[in-house]
Amino acid sequence: MQAALLNATFVYYLFPLLMILGWYLRGRQARHARSLAILEENRRAGLTEPASLHPVVDPLRCMGCGSCASACPEGDVLGLVRGRAELINATHCIGHGACKEACPFDAITLVFGTEKRGIDIPVVNPDFQTNMPGIFIAGELGGMGLIRNAVEQGRQAIASIAAYCEPRRGDDRLDVVIVGAGPAGFAASLGAMERKLRYLTIEQESLGGTVSHFPRGKLVMTAPVVLPLVGKVGFTETSKETLMAFWEKVARDTGVEIRYGERLEDIVPEGDAYRVRTTAGEYLASTVLLAIGRRGTPRKLGVEGEDLPKVVYRLIDAEQYAGQHVLVVGGGDSALEAAGSIAEQPGSTVTLSYRSAAFSRAKEKNRQRVEALEKEGRLRVIFNSTVRSISETAVVLDREGEQIELRNEAIIISAGGILPTPFLKKIGIQVETHHGKA
Ligand SMILES: Cc1cc2nc3c(=O)[nH]c(=O)nc-3n(C[C@H](O)[C@H](O)[C@H](O)COP(=O)(O)OP(=O)(O)OC[C@H]3O[C@@H](n4cnc5c(N)ncnc54)[C@H](O)[C@@H]3O)c2cc1C
Ligand code: SF4
Repeated sequence: MQAALLNATFVYYLFPLLMILGWYLRGRQARHARSLAILEENRRAGLTEPASLHPVVDPLRCMGCGSCASACPEGDVLGLVRGRAELINATHCIGHGACKEACPFDAITLVFGTEKRGIDIPVVNPDFQTNMPGIFIAGELGGMGLIRNAVEQGRQAIASIAAYCEPRRGDDRLDVVIVGAGPAGFAASLGAMERKLRYLTIEQESLGGTVSHFPRGKLVMTAPVVLPLVGKVGFTETSKETLMAFWEKVARDTGVEIRYGERLEDIVPEGDAYRVRTTAGEYLASTVLLAIGRRGTPRKLGVEGEDLPKVVYRLIDAEQYAGQHVLVVGGGDSALEAAGSIAEQPGSTVTLSYRSAAFSRAKEKNRQRVEALEKEGRLRVIFNSTVRSISETAVVLDREGEQIELRNEAIIISAGGILPTPFLKKIGIQVETHHGKA
């Protein structure tokens, strides 16, 4: 009787429990193995330093529940390694901070920079003004990433600028030059229009800043914001395309003036104002709002023909290159990813030119993809080569003295960016280097 009862208990209670436990442990083991594999791959590729604000996990508090990893909207940024949460995909962290909020044990602190790589953050007052009177900073350049923060700061910075500027003067001096038309600069430009300031916005590329360079279809996580002239905008989860279409419509409907394709080159004090020099001219302004983000200006090659419209510095949509002869320049992950996705388009021929002898700073999976495509004859890699000149229909490479002319319809240059810190220092803005401080 007792044995039958024990049997029934085992069959109906213990067995299912053991099954569930076994299933849970197997899942956990697989998750740990996957996290470790991602972490090791990134270590091998040297991709261990986050760009800006990122989580640091206290191993003494972490219980390994994984809530932080599940909460991150960017996917595999945090993972579980040896029973504890760890930043496994550091370069993909954009500082959402959802991990910190999700941790039930308060094991996460958000910090700028690491011991190895400091992050330069300009010193900015609560009114967004720097140590240079009349030069203001808003958005990610000031350290705080995310679209909602950038929009909010752009709006608030313009309020400070309106309070700072003297009442309208008789001359043609501008109240403010806004540099950058990402979320911060766009919100600031609408704010300047709303407040009837004499403003000018310049943007080296196009509307939307970093958002316009997100991959096609990227899920954008944001929060409702107040956009000047528009009011409350309620996006929380949307796609890159929907957000960009909305901003473009706002730009059209309001008639906000933004000069695209114009880059800031210098800011020089002149009396109680600033002389702002750009690639298209110079302006005298009482104040300058720098909303230039942290991604910098794409590094140019400085060769003949580089200003042709077929030359771009970021791949947005591989499909547009189907059937074309394309050159990709660079040896990092973005160059390899661009070359790989274009080579997979029907009818395209892709050449990947890199100045070194091997791809030492790219992820193994990208290197393997390039090798596989090369074996299939869909992509050609030319190491130890540099671009010599570009024309409408061709490009000339120099490989250790040998000239190689290739038929060409498009060029994607992924040669990194010139970061804004040296420029900030040059114009006299105080910058602090953070090494993992909150
Ligand atoms: C892959 C990725 C995914 C992300 N996903 C999200 C997300 O889901 N949700 C979210 O909230 N945030 C996300 N972010 C972060 C978000 O994109 C940024 O925090 C935000 O765009 C910062 O806005 P900003 O206006 O300060 O700077 P940016 O968007 O970087 O805009 C700066 C602008 O200034 C221009 N500029 C720079 N230098 C000059 C110059 N010298 N002259 C003229 N113009 C210049 C640039 O061309 C650019 O258009 C993501 C970031 C990345 C990289
Ligand atoms: S949520 Fe907190 S306790 Fe759970 S894994 Fe992440 S850091 Fe550790």
